[in-house]
Amino acid sequence: MSVEFGIHTIDTAFQRDHFDAAYLIAHEGRGAFIDCGTSHAVPRLLACAAQAGLQPADIDWLIVTHVHLDHAGGAGALLQELPNARLVVHPRGAPHMIDPARLIAGATAVYGEAEMARSYGTIVPVPEARVVIAGDGHQLSLAGRALLCVDTPGHARHHFCVWDETSRSWFTGDTFGLSYRELDSERGPFIVPTSSPVQFEPEALHASIDRLMTRAPKAMYLTHYGRVQDVARLAGDLHEQIDEMVGIARQYEKADDRHDALVSALGALYVARARRHECALDDAGVLRVLAMDIELNAQGLVCWLERDKR
Ligand SMILES: [Zn+2]
Repeated sequence: MSVEFGIHTIDTAFQRDHFDAAYLIAHEGRGAFIDCGTSHAVPRLLACAAQAGLQPADIDWLIVTHVHLDHAGGAGALLQELPNARLVVHPRGAPHMIDPARLIAGATAVYGEAEMARSYGTIVPVPEARVVIAGDGHQLSLAGRALLCVDTPGHARHHFCVWDETSRSWFTGDTFGLSYRELDSERGPFIVPTSSPVQFEPEALHASIDRLMTRAPKAMYLTHYGRVQDVARLAGDLHEQIDEMVGIARQYEKADDRHDALVSALGALYVARARRHECALDDAGVLRVLAMDIELNAQGLVCWLERDKR
């Protein structure tokens, strides 16, 4: 992928190629990582920095959009390699980076022990002294380049997005959905929201997407996966699908086989949209690319239904 504005896309290789990205912003001889994948990705992140001409000591910031493990699981391990870097994290996420016990337990409940060991590796606590808590509007400087953290709940309550004024773009974590290059067509990127467990809030997600759009961004840098443009159309696609996903959840709220019903209804929704988008992959191919996300979106909708009852 070409480098614009000093922004390097790093494939963390979590789960498969071109699924989970981290970013390096290199500016005036200093560096900031945004999201970092799991501890298995540390060598890839350091290699990217070296290619950009940066030593580990030249990295000032590791910014995590939220503390889900595919974004922040490797933070503690990475910081051990970066003598001058500090971790920038949402106020609700910070306690879980300092003491990851609950994070590990929560992820183990979703993924199971075998998958945790295989995919996530060791989750290293981050020393409290190295943590910068970034509330809404927190501004960082990377050698004079302004990076602004903006609270964006909806996918998770511990989520912010990062505005880079230099490129006029957002680093969106999971707030601006998922867009895999395998599903690009002549019409541009294909996008799907993520409602993964356990804090999906549709109204908050709509509002967060609107908030991102108020700056008329030129591009969005998604963790899953890479830079997308055509941002206004994608925002509309996300808004529509959030409502459709809520409708599906309501429709199957009382079904006995609720989880399985949600998996198949979500799959049918995304396949129908992929056909309208003229994606080259056949239906089975679309479902294969989105399989893990469909499973997590179904689980997250169940969590939302259960929470909404209380
Ligand atoms: Zn997430």
